[in-house]
Amino acid sequence: MENSKRQIPIVIDTERNEPIWVASLSWIYEQHELQEIRQANIKHHRFVCQNCKQLVYLHAKRDDDSRHGHQYYFSHPEGIDCDWKSDSKSRAEIYAGVSEGDKHWQMKELLAKTLINLPNWEVVDVDTQFVFSLDKLKRAKPDLHARYFGTDVAFEIQLRSESPKVILDRQHFYQEKEWPLIWLSAENEDQILDFFDKERIAVKQVQKDIAFCNRGNWFIFNKFLASQSLEKKQLTILTKVWEPSLAGKKIYYDWCQYSVTYDQLTHHDGETFYRDFYALDRALKADLVEQGKLRVLANIDHFKNQEYRDWSQFLVAAKICWPTLDMSSDADWLHSVFKEDYYRRVLQVKSTVLTIIRYYSSDMPSSYKRWEQFALKLSHLYFGFHKNMSLSVLEKIMLILGYDLSTKLGRRQKSYARAVHNFFDYEAFKPYQALCLRAIELSEHKEELLHTPNVLARLNDPMKKSIEINSSLDDFLEWFASDPICEQRGL
Ligand SMILES: [Zn+2]
Repeated sequence: MENSKRQIPIVIDTERNEPIWVASLSWIYEQHELQEIRQANIKHHRFVCQNCKQLVYLHAKRDDDSRHGHQYYFSHPEGIDCDWKSDSKSRAEIYAGVSEGDKHWQMKELLAKTLINLPNWEVVDVDTQFVFSLDKLKRAKPDLHARYFGTDVAFEIQLRSESPKVILDRQHFYQEKEWPLIWLSAENEDQILDFFDKERIAVKQVQKDIAFCNRGNWFIFNKFLASQSLEKKQLTILTKVWEPSLAGKKIYYDWCQYSVTYDQLTHHDGETFYRDFYALDRALKADLVEQGKLRVLANIDHFKNQEYRDWSQFLVAAKICWPTLDMSSDADWLHSVFKEDYYRRVLQVKSTVLTIIRYYSSDMPSSYKRWEQFALKLSHLYFGFHKNMSLSVLEKIMLILGYDLSTKLGRRQKSYARAVHNFFDYEAFKPYQALCLRAIELSEHKEELLHTPNVLARLNDPMKKSIEINSSLDDFLEWFASDPICEQRGL
């Protein structure tokens, strides 16, 4: 391209009325065809300058690196006035208007030149031949059709504005044929000549579109990578992957880049990728969930110090150590942990209640003192506690429920039956008769109690109905006898 005479970037092939990139000539045509063009153009005026539509002549310049040993270019005959003529405008000026397509071609040429020099690769065609779908109803013209170990591979050079539909259609086309398809970015490739440069490059929408049709991957090829490929004897491309990474308790996303060889790419379901963004993301999210769960479990004792008393307060505490928790998927687990922990704590409280009551008959003053402190500590938990509860009534209630509080009370069966009598014999207990009846209802010895003749006689006493009043212990009894049930019955 250094040749200053190579001024005409595009000619029109009047046979098909199609523009031809001059730089693509040696890829499109075989040697003998180029020879025919050189002669035919003189005879039939087949190729004209795209700018002035005048006849142009094909010239050749020796170039050992070129496919046919020569570089081919067109020039205007003498006496023609055209902006694309060598003496009227600089090459840069001419190419400014057509650089996009030129860049596109340069990329194809660079890729083709690289592949033909790599082992196991074969360049079948550069941008001229259609390939057809299996049913022959659809066709596409790959920018470069190559074979790797005999397997067809399609390369497309990504342009400035490829619509998602074009990308997907192309993908489906090659997926059906089971050809790997690789989109190579020609866009901003000059900004990434040195891919070790950590400076961020602007990712174009079209590149994002391609990336997310390829598990978050898009690919770059350029002169630097071409020489790397030749050195390594393997096609080497730069892969940009949209990747999740963990920072603290959250996932962050950014483009990561890798220099990879063709063998390192995976082709699946029409997609080509080096790293599967979706799989990485799923794995990291699963990690994050595991870590979140572990943190919740490790911090539950800390939650306890904050004395959460309900589900929503538990969630607030959980969210602090697990900021990414997702209520739609994590709530079931959290709720089971909450329930378990909450139950564990409730059981501790119930067991402490039983302990205090158990020592009540042997040391009343200190039992009341303990109860007062305990009730004060739990006052915010809505368990029905208050400090002025009658422990002697509670003791009998616990016995009726079936808790064996003291060996002094003799046989269990005897103790809970005897406890009922208190509520009918003593004035101090009479206001709690309704409580006693409720305790019988809730007792695990209910049937036995109801079949004890003395108890039955009490329950049928017409007096009891007149004293059915709510007691200050009703709420407490309901709480104590509800789930989780303290399993200390009958120690
Ligand atoms: Zn011209």
